[in-house]
Amino acid sequence: MTICYGLQWEFHLRRKMGFEYSRSGNPTRNCLERAVAALDGAQHCMALASGLAATMTITHLLKAGDGIVCMNDVYGGTNRYFRRIASEIGMDVSFADCTKPEVLKSALKPNTKLVWIETPTNPTMKVVDIKACAEIAHQHNKDIVVVVDNTFMSAFFQRPLALGADICMYSATKYMNGHSDVVMGLVSVNREDLYDRLKFLQNALGPVPSPFDCYLCNRGLKTLHLRMRQHFKNALAAAKFLEADPRVDRVIFPGLPSHPQHELMKRQCTGCPGMITFYIKGKLEHATTFLSNLKLFALAESLGGYESLAEHPAIMTHASVPEEERVVLGISDTLIRLSVGLEEEQDIIDDLDQALAAAHPKKK
Ligand SMILES: *Cc1c(COP(=O)(O)O)cnc(C)c1O
Repeated sequence: MTICYGLQWEFHLRRKMGFEYSRSGNPTRNCLERAVAALDGAQHCMALASGLAATMTITHLLKAGDGIVCMNDVYGGTNRYFRRIASEIGMDVSFADCTKPEVLKSALKPNTKLVWIETPTNPTMKVVDIKACAEIAHQHNKDIVVVVDNTFMSAFFQRPLALGADICMYSATKYMNGHSDVVMGLVSVNREDLYDRLKFLQNALGPVPSPFDCYLCNRGLKTLHLRMRQHFKNALAAAKFLEADPRVDRVIFPGLPSHPQHELMKRQCTGCPGMITFYIKGKLEHATTFLSNLKLFALAESLGGYESLAEHPAIMTHASVPEEERVVLGISDTLIRLSVGLEEEQDIIDDLDQALAAAHPKKK
């Protein structure tokens, strides 16, 4: 009788803490969630199995017939999820150029329940005005959930909830963890109703991260400020070097005054991550020669880690985007995307310089 009573009491306590089963809650995951909520200025945060697991869970807030308006230039996996899964199960998905608030306004419908923004966009680095988009969406219907994919900026450079977004999500696989050894998603919210629903959905759907990955990500966060400052410093130096180089056509980096939305970037963020996109002079072969001659930069698709990476969006990350659409978005054969890492600034520039020389042996 006493033993039975003791067991019931212990189970009751664990359930109260939310730790009766690790899918529902886990102490290590809680530590990470509390740290990220603090960074985002949020009441709540949830860690999920991946960035796409976060996207899936958020989309489950909707039902068949509900509408989603998504920025036209987003992470390829987000585009694929909305186009090939959400639409297939009856959601009304449309894409709009949210860099122009009037375009977003005309895309909103009576059934719109979710607005999905990513800024800056990948790979063309367009900056979206979060405050303006959130206002337009909430004026249309105050219950519309405005989501900002904050993966590129990280919590250190941009706080979407303070700008009016309802949900701030991350692929923590990138800058938030920063060490290229974890796949994870994060979702921060202030609204209690959204948090309760998302918690229910995560427990009911199952996309939870392992406690060990949460431990690693929490550890990565300890150096977020140092890493982001160094990414910004290195990327700004590399972008300036590329912009001044005659073997380069054009550089797109929101931290450069030449970026068309540089002023907006300065208004809504406090810095830029290591992502640079540039057009090399010449044709496809110049781009591929450049990429195959890099020594410090690794040829790889991911981004946001300590190590410098380079890739060719038209062949690699954005190959699934139809060619006509790639042309509209500006993803041409000479477009190269860099994720500038934490190495010495001069080593990064020297590597870019020698690979440009390999692609263009005579010029300069
Ligand atoms: C990588 C990425 C995602 C997807 O995240 P995973 O952790 O790979 O599932 C979503 N958004 C952006 C901007 C990304 O770069």
